[in-house]
Amino acid sequence: MLQTKLIFASHNVHKTAEIAKLLPGNWIVNSLSDIDYHSEIVEDGLTLQANALIKAQTIFEATQFNCFADDTGLMVEALNGNPGVFSARFAGPEKDSSKNNHKLLMDLAGIDNRTAYFSTFICLILNGEIQYFEGRMDGHITQSASGSNGFGYDPIFMPVGSNRTLAEMSMEEKNTISHRAKAFEKMKLFLENLK
Ligand code: IMP
Repeated sequence: MLQTKLIFASHNVHKTAEIAKLLPGNWIVNSLSDIDYHSEIVEDGLTLQANALIKAQTIFEATQFNCFADDTGLMVEALNGNPGVFSARFAGPEKDSSKNNHKLLMDLAGIDNRTAYFSTFICLILNGEIQYFEGRMDGHITQSASGSNGFGYDPIFMPVGSNRTLAEMSMEEKNTISHRAKAFEKMKLFLENLK
């Protein structure tokens, strides 16, 4: 089988391994650490889509390899879509999840509308052409944190149709409904259907 290399514009080797498992066998996925790319990529886009493009384009220009990048955010309706593109640094530059969760619960104190969704954008640059894939998970922000699995906002996000937060689910269960899984499933279908 002819294998084609795809660079994932991320240093996260665990995320890279998960995605490599998901994609068709003729695609080899390398992380930025695998290719010894250690420069910082400044993600100063105003949307998830813009940040995914910045990351993918930076790596494409540096390496000329086919590549992809993802960017995820939590959009809260009562906060006009915030923290959105600032999800990682919502409570400060240290990217502390428990501080982010605490700030979000404080910002929503006394507010009845807790509607929110996660969105992941993937930007794929394949043979110089740009493709986007989006995955979304709807739900609401709980009144308090619950559960210890997962990461980020998982303890305070309850998906539609569930009575548990994401942090109360197993990783396998979360992966059947998550924004990220849906976006990667779309990229997988695209790669499978390439002529
Ligand atoms: P990234 O683009 O995947 O780095 O995600 C940006 C930020 O969004 C993370 O630092 C987390 O705070 C949050 N986030 C992304 N995905 C998830 C998730 O699946 N659950 C909870 N929080 C998430």
